[in-house]
Formats: sequence, C-alpha cells, structure tokens
Amino acid sequence: MIKTYFIRIKIVVLFLIINMSFVRSENEFTIIDKTVSFGMRTAENRNVIAVIVHSTFNNSGGEKYDIDLIIKQFSRYGVSAHYVIGRDGSIYSLVNEKNVSFHAGKSHLPNGQTNLNSCTIGIELMTSFDEAPTEQQIHSLTILVNDIKKRHNIEFVLRHSDIAPDRKTDPWNMDWEGFLAGISK
Ligand SMILES: [Zn+2]
Repeated sequence: MIKTYFIRIKIVVLFLIINMSFVRSENEFTIIDKTVSFGMRTAENRNVIAVIVHSTFNNSGGEKYDIDLIIKQFSRYGVSAHYVIGRDGSIYSLVNEKNVSFHAGKSHLPNGQTNLNSCTIGIELMTSFDEAPTEQQIHSLTILVNDIKKRHNIEFVLRHSDIAPDRKTDPWNMDWEGFLAGISK
C-alpha cells in the first residue's frame, strides 16, 4: 500500500519535471553576439521606457536577409539597433541595452517625448516590403519583448511608424494586434 503510494508520488514528480522543462524550453532563447561600435553611444543609467519595432533588409546587393550584410549596411548609414531578429527567429545583439542605439531618428512618443534613442530599445525584424515576418520571428520577438519588460519599466511597445508617422512605414506587413496580444501586461 505504502509502496504504491510512493510510486504514485514519483510519477507525479516526474510529470511535473517533464512539464517544467517543457515550459522552460518554450521561453528559452539564445542571443547571438554581433556587437557593433558604430551607430551607438555608451550611456550610464539610462531610463528605458519604450520598445520600438522596425523592419530591415540588405538592399545593397547579395542576400537580403544576411545578418553581416545588414550590419555592413547599418555601418554605412551610421545606424544600428539593439537587436535584429532573423527569418528563422535567431536573435542577434548589436548594442547592449544599457547603451544608446541610433534607430529611431526624428520621432516622438504618444506623450510628446522626443530624443527617443536615449530612452528606447530598438528591435529590427528582417522583413522586406513584400514579405511578412515569419512565425518564428514573431515568436522570438514576443519572448524578447516580454523579457525586456521584466528588466525595464516599459510604458510603450510601438512601431517605428507610430513614432515617425510622416517618415516611416515599418515594420512592414506585420499583424501588429496579433503580436501585441502575446505581450505581457
Ligand atoms: Zn525603422
């Protein structure tokens, strides 16, 4: 009788462990280091209040979704982003979150605040004008933004087109409302 009881407990514990590791792997992600020294400036104790989502691709010849070609293109324009997410969901880190990345340009938040590079985290999705983000990209973006929200007091998750409506149209072809539904409050 006691023996059966213990076997039952063992089965329940085993089930919990399997379940937990499943949940863990769902939210686990790796970041590929692609740190850049251009299109950014170092900062101390900056206050991050918003995440800005963009689209980018290499339009200078060669593979349009090649991370190194995209970074090369950024260097020519003197811009960057904190993260770039590849078509397969790979997350590349270009600028440490504590530093300022030049990704927003002339723009403003819904509360009127300007100088947005200093208080935002920029994330670029590899997308072109006629292609939507992949499922893996949205999955990685969701996990990344939810993780950022644990580390900063994020008041806004916005598109580049939300903060610079007269200049910018990115992120392109994205189900924005669908993405926001997966973001923790
Ligand atoms: Zn943009």
